[in-house]
Amino acid sequence: MFLFIPLLFGCSTKVKPDGTEQPAHVCPRCNNASVFAAKSKTWFEFFFVPLVPLSSKHIWLCGICQWASPLGVGQWEPPIAYQTPQHHSFSGYNAGYQPSYAQPPNQK
Ligand SMILES: [Zn+2]
Repeated sequence: MFLFIPLLFGCSTKVKPDGTEQPAHVCPRCNNASVFAAKSKTWFEFFFVPLVPLSSKHIWLCGICQWASPLGVGQWEPPIAYQTPQHHSFSGYNAGYQPSYAQPPNQK
């Protein structure tokens, strides 16, 4: 007499942000500056436990509409959202002075 145990296995994809210090990129679908570089890893899963990594790739992922695109050298990448200049840490910085490089380029 054999006891049949249903085997639960399959694949799952886990996505992790690629680092923390990233400029915000603009999503081409929802136009929110919520696209970040992420690492997508597909695992072979057995009883919901990830056992074997099958493949990993870098992708762009929008945190709002879940838009995703492959990320790679030479690939198209979403434009970086314009950000206000970060606080300058060096002493003697005159807060009223706006350096020219802080202006957005080519305002039309
Ligand atoms: Zn989006």
